[in-house]
Amino acid sequence: MKYPEVRDDDFPSCAVCGQPVAEFAWMTDSETWSDAGMEEEDHCHIVCLEGRLRRPLDINDFPPDIPLNQIFHFAYRMGMEVVLRRLRDAMKQGDIHNE
Ligand SMILES: [Zn+2]
Repeated sequence: MKYPEVRDDDFPSCAVCGQPVAEFAWMTDSETWSDAGMEEEDHCHIVCLEGRLRRPLDINDFPPDIPLNQIFHFAYRMGMEVVLRRLRDAMKQGDIHNE
């Protein structure tokens, strides 16, 4: 059985760990981003960003007026913080890859 190949260079590299970023899209507010020492055009993993900030991100770090963030706010309203945390833990362990 052969799986379709996912090439690392199909994704932008994380500005922190250098690994490809294959997560779904999101944007923090610019203050959070610059606190982490990120440039506007940088990409990074949520866990890497939290590592830089030395604190967990929360819903207030993702401005609802940015369309990319609507999935976070939808999930938050639905009380799915637990699901998001599990998703994040799975991404940290590398269990979830881009399909
Ligand atoms: Zn990273």
